[in-house]
Amino acid sequence: MTSEAKRTVVVTGGSRGIGRAICLALAGPDTHLFFNYHSAGEAAEKTIALVGEKGGTAEGVQADVASPESVSAFFKQIMEKTGRIDVLVNNAGVTKDGLIAMMKEADWDTVLNINLKGAFNCIKSATRPMMKQRGGRIINITSVVGAMGNAGQANYAASKAGLIGLTKSAARELASRNITVNAVAPGFVETDMTDAMTDKAREALQTQIPLRRFGQVDEVAATVAFLASDAAAYITGQVIHVNGGMYI
Ligand code: NAP
Repeated sequence: MTSEAKRTVVVTGGSRGIGRAICLALAGPDTHLFFNYHSAGEAAEKTIALVGEKGGTAEGVQADVASPESVSAFFKQIMEKTGRIDVLVNNAGVTKDGLIAMMKEADWDTVLNINLKGAFNCIKSATRPMMKQRGGRIINITSVVGAMGNAGQANYAASKAGLIGLTKSAARELASRNITVNAVAPGFVETDMTDAMTDKAREALQTQIPLRRFGQVDEVAATVAFLASDAAAYITGQVIHVNGGMYI
């Protein structure tokens, strides 16, 4: 990268929650950020404004990571504007919880298509420019339940465990081109996703967390920023757990 060129960072699901915190942790005067959202256009505007307050620039694009066509169009737009991709963070994710016996096939498919195939679609689009540049960082947001499993979340846990296998395989494939691929596995973090829980469920979960609290989005984002930084150049194929000791 020439000294005058800005670093191009791509974050999926950057409109809210952990994704927005990741956008802010990676934003700055030397970075141009692209993020996508699915339906929350107003939330995306807020992310853009907050990135601006950090002296950075950002563009929010509507795209469905589960759709190869939508992802191709998103990355085409990025390449036309900046001609490079330095960091890709696969953060977009959804839950559709239920016990296996009752789980609708559509709920299995939706979660796997967004959380796992969505990351595959984005990695596929980002690797060609990263290989040409002979460098890049890919960071996948998995989950503690991808390592531990969770009753009522078979689809979600399978998608997040799959993301760990995808991370390790991509790390092996891309290392020769100086592209590192790692995963960050948050435990329970305060976001819209966990706000939906009842107080009783939250209290029960907190007893299983040695640090006795849910995580904050900034604590996950700081780990992503580290993996995207020069300091993490020799780390690849790893899963970094950020979970208050919930899984040791
Ligand atoms: P969130 O607040 O629900 O935000 C989800 C983000 O993903 C939003 O930006 C959403 O866009 C986007 N998105 C959803 N479906 C999409 C699709 N089909 N295509 C593109 N973007 C899509 O979620 P979060 O809690 O911040 O979670 C972020 C990531 O961390 C997820 O991968 C999640 O599995 C993981 N995680 C979360 C926790 C937790 O406790 N919160 C714990 C472990 C792992 P819209 O705003 O347009 O809907």
